[in-house]
Amino acid sequence: MKYLIGNMKMNMDFKSLQDYFKDLIEATKDCKNTVGVCVPSVYLETASNNLSGANVLFGVQNMHYEDKGAFTGEISANMINDFDAKLVIVGHSERRSLFHESDEEINLKVKKAIASGLTPILCFGETKEEREEGKEKYIVQSQIELALKDLSKEDISKIIFAYEPVWAIGTGLTATKEQAEEMLAHTKELVFKICGLNADEIIGLYGGSMKPSNAKELLEMPSIDGGLIGGACLKVEDFKQIFMAV
Ligand code: PEP
Repeated sequence: MKYLIGNMKMNMDFKSLQDYFKDLIEATKDCKNTVGVCVPSVYLETASNNLSGANVLFGVQNMHYEDKGAFTGEISANMINDFDAKLVIVGHSERRSLFHESDEEINLKVKKAIASGLTPILCFGETKEEREEGKEKYIVQSQIELALKDLSKEDISKIIFAYEPVWAIGTGLTATKEQAEEMLAHTKELVFKICGLNADEIIGLYGGSMKPSNAKELLEMPSIDGGLIGGACLKVEDFKQIFMAV
């Protein structure tokens, strides 16, 4: 069983989401994989109204680590829980680069998500320059170690890990299946060293221009337990070809 999670980013509108959810429910009926979708938070109630009871997990793309207070524009884990959402993306590279999210904040968000019963999808990955300099494993190690700081083995087992090389996100460039496999195997070794969880106790996704034409070969790799899918999740017919690929 694989995990295929869509990241809608700042796309869709109320009307198109109604049709999208209807089609997604239909498309996932015979799916043996776990499918989920992270919507813009303003549409969390729409997701909840449409997807509760369906074969599709849902959640959001970000949250704050505090429970409440003067944090204009932010949402809390409790607010997300009001809508029975399960998933929250944490540390997406667009949050890290465009909104200057630090590893320390990401660590606090992971802790808060777990303490609140949400499943954090922890994103990490190197830039093009870092890969060209041969630093990709070191970068990923540092991001993971900082994100997992002071978390117990039990807490870490609740995280979904998403290796997302920045150079492959929204660019049409995909990591080869060998590159993605190598980095997720590295991730699982790191997590084992940090807390003793075995590779088969950790969920590791690949994200970065996964699409119908490359999903199968990526998803067949032994360390790749699924995908985090941006652009290609926006049309149910494309998303379906991905979550039905294996
Ligand atoms: C993402 O934003 O997490 C992502 C993987 O995007 P895309 O599939 O569009 O590269």
